[in-house]
Amino acid sequence: MKYNRTFNFSAGPAMMPEPVLEEIRDEMMNYRGSGMCVMEMSHRSKVFQQIIDEAEADLRELMNIPDNYKVLFIQGGATLQFAAIPWNLMKNGKAVYVETGAWSKKAIAEAKKYGEVIVAASSKDKNFSYIPDCSDLDIPEDADYVYICENETIHGVTWNKLPNTKGHVLVSDQSSMFLSKPCNVSDYGMIYAGVQKNVGPAGMVVVIIREDLIREDIDPKMPVYMSYKTHADNGSMYNTPNCWAIYCCGKVFKYLKSIGGLEEMHKRNIAKAKVIYDFLDSSKMFKGTVEPEFRSLMNIPFVTGSAELDAEVVAATKAAGYDNLKGHKSVGGLRASVYNAMPIEGAQALVEFLKKFEAEHK
Ligand SMILES: *Cc1c(COP(=O)(O)O)cnc(C)c1O
Repeated sequence: MKYNRTFNFSAGPAMMPEPVLEEIRDEMMNYRGSGMCVMEMSHRSKVFQQIIDEAEADLRELMNIPDNYKVLFIQGGATLQFAAIPWNLMKNGKAVYVETGAWSKKAIAEAKKYGEVIVAASSKDKNFSYIPDCSDLDIPEDADYVYICENETIHGVTWNKLPNTKGHVLVSDQSSMFLSKPCNVSDYGMIYAGVQKNVGPAGMVVVIIREDLIREDIDPKMPVYMSYKTHADNGSMYNTPNCWAIYCCGKVFKYLKSIGGLEEMHKRNIAKAKVIYDFLDSSKMFKGTVEPEFRSLMNIPFVTGSAELDAEVVAATKAAGYDNLKGHKSVGGLRASVYNAMPIEGAQALVEFLKKFEAEHK
């Protein structure tokens, strides 16, 4: 492999497209004649304004974001949004959440600090190995929104069909699936994603929010940074934004456009995940932990059935140059995260390795 890079199966931060890293390298010492690196640049400069404007425009084009939605680049990761969402969006002090794994659980726990949280459906009964039926949820008329985590990074489950919100606003955590497939933005009131899983470097979240949900009448005690209005009114530059992440993500948006957009990305992701799932379905040693219908294209947890053997496999993969395959402690076993930037060759190489391991450990 060029540069002797490893196939990195990390759940995040994760791989970035090689052409993007090369461009960043080439612009490192002197960004397009500015005489400086983007890291050294004033966020109030014309050069940086162009970087952020282009990043937003490219993302809007990629996702076909309607004009009545704002795109915000905010620090604090996805975790800060667990609090920002209820604090900003709970007008009636009530929201419905669907519990599908570790990340929706965390969002629920945080939201409870700000109002009444109704968990209308859960897949806890089977250790979050499926998505519950959400075609007829019990949603109070005055609930402010319905919240889902659209791809559970740790448990490896994903939504194939959005819940029936019965006219309520849908809020979705897309952190570990952002830009992995086409998305109809107008199905949602708000989409957000920490970028370090599927886009760029850590330290930023992208928020796509319908304008009418941005409130003036927020709690006066809310920190100015937590209010969506602050970021919307100031073009994501009320204070110094994460300039570096905006720059790198902008390059990834352009890269995705250059390969044919989200439809092409989706095709590649399906083909890549299929390599691993086909192997898991045919293996006698390894098996996937998620019901087939709800399997994530991005995060693939699997087990041998023996914690000892799992640990042996993890050690062997690491020694062979496939990094970060240890499963999260709440699920155990292994997990292969195969985000957009993981080439299909990585999935194929991993499967070849696991096949060989299985043959040698009969
Ligand atoms: C990683 C992750 C988070 C937390 O992201 P941070 O940016 O580390 O706060 C939230 N939700 C999902 C689905 C994630 O995968």
